[in-house]
Amino acid sequence: MKNPYGLQDGKLVSVDTVESGLACGCVCPACNEPLEAHKGKLKIHYFKHYNGSDCGYGLETATHLLAKSIIENEKILLLPSLQAPPDWKQLPYLEAQYLNERPFPHHIMFKELVPPWYKLKVDEVLVEKRVGSIIPDVIVVAKGKQLFVEIKVTHGIDDKKLKYIKENRISVVEYDFSKMRNTIDVKHIKYVLTESYKGATKGKGLGRWINHRGLQKAITEVTQNMRIHYPEKVPEQT
Ligand SMILES: [Zn+2]
Repeated sequence: MKNPYGLQDGKLVSVDTVESGLACGCVCPACNEPLEAHKGKLKIHYFKHYNGSDCGYGLETATHLLAKSIIENEKILLLPSLQAPPDWKQLPYLEAQYLNERPFPHHIMFKELVPPWYKLKVDEVLVEKRVGSIIPDVIVVAKGKQLFVEIKVTHGIDDKKLKYIKENRISVVEYDFSKMRNTIDVKHIKYVLTESYKGATKGKGLGRWINHRGLQKAITEVTQNMRIHYPEKVPEQT
């Protein structure tokens, strides 16, 4: 996918709004190298690095900047729902001993951490700011708490990032835009980040929780709750 976004005087601009060639006066959002605007009659318009060596991150960073400005303007982020399940490994007897009681009631088996259609009221948005040893794509601040927002285009979360997130019990939600072809559809990005799950399919904006600071505690609670409602039956000794 070619990058249709550049920085002009520090502002993100679409290739359609600038002059052709180097006269566009744009630089790559990721590496700051000069860009040439390619605006042929037949081909889709795009930016090319003038020095010929594409850093490979222009589109990625442009999408992060777009997401940031959308969330900033709307002051809202539509979150995916999140329910903590029990830790089944700690309940190995359930399957055999309570076969007839399944399905277990939803309110016993799960704890809701984030209800569906929850729109987080956002106070502040930061982009590509280093935190510890990692750089989250976007950081959303709401009521003094930070939520990391990963915008997946071509580069997902690597192992190092995931390890840091889990170790530091950081809440992270990822929106997957990896299947948006040939264009950054700003309207669609705005729609799935701030309005509706509809159309937010895998690769087209689907959000999912990578981690939640309250997840481990909730899993422990749900597991204990299951044990109370469905205790292990120990055979009587004779
Ligand atoms: Zn670049």
